[in-house]
Amino acid sequence: MHYAIIADIHANLSAFTVVLDDIQRRGGASELWCLGDVVGYGPDPHGCIELLRHYKFLCVAGNHDWAAIGKIDTATFNPDAAAACLWTARQLGPEDKACLEGLPERVEVADFTLVHGSPREPIWEYLVTEEQAGENEAYFDTRFCLVGHSHVPLVFELMDDSTWVGRWLADGETLVLGGRRLIINPGGVGQPRDGDPRAAYAIYDDETGTVSVYRVAYNIEATQARMKACGLPPRLISRLSHGH
Ligand code: ZN
Repeated sequence: MHYAIIADIHANLSAFTVVLDDIQRRGGASELWCLGDVVGYGPDPHGCIELLRHYKFLCVAGNHDWAAIGKIDTATFNPDAAAACLWTARQLGPEDKACLEGLPERVEVADFTLVHGSPREPIWEYLVTEEQAGENEAYFDTRFCLVGHSHVPLVFELMDDSTWVGRWLADGETLVLGGRRLIINPGGVGQPRDGDPRAAYAIYDDETGTVSVYRVAYNIEATQARMKACGLPPRLISRLSHGH
């Protein structure tokens, strides 16, 4: 069976839709595994939650998901993120809020632990260095861990000498899951930050034991036009063009 691994949709319905189409084109997925930040930054928080709920899915909470419903505070958000969060909060209906409220911080499924940030600090930590991978090793019991939050597709691998080695993942790259522990980030659907503006996601195939990372172009201008019409901060609009 195939499981689609998606993270950081960030209310970008145009990006989310093309990712779902691309998943379908590759044979579909029996479940979506979402690593949080369904909302925040983008123009369609309600539409993205509604679309996600059409599918069989597992989803953990991201900082933007809980900030939008006031479950965590935005003191550490930069001014643009905080402004977008306030705007997002006004777009959510009761069912949207209940959905975000009920998201767990961590989910374990098969050989995977799913978190937004890191297993040590699920809501807030950006897990981007080999040193952090080592520090997080004791905080998950499954062989593999899936994280989002940094919006960069990458993998950390626990080597035989007990060191963690990390690298970025390219479009189309396939990881063969063996005995070694891995921490994998599929990249961001709705606001990529690795210099490639295309939406990123991954598919886990439990028959071949592989995780493949994909990039897919979407209508960035359409999302940007919606953001402008919604009065969202200009910097959040322009960054989508550059993917950082
Ligand atoms: Zn995010």
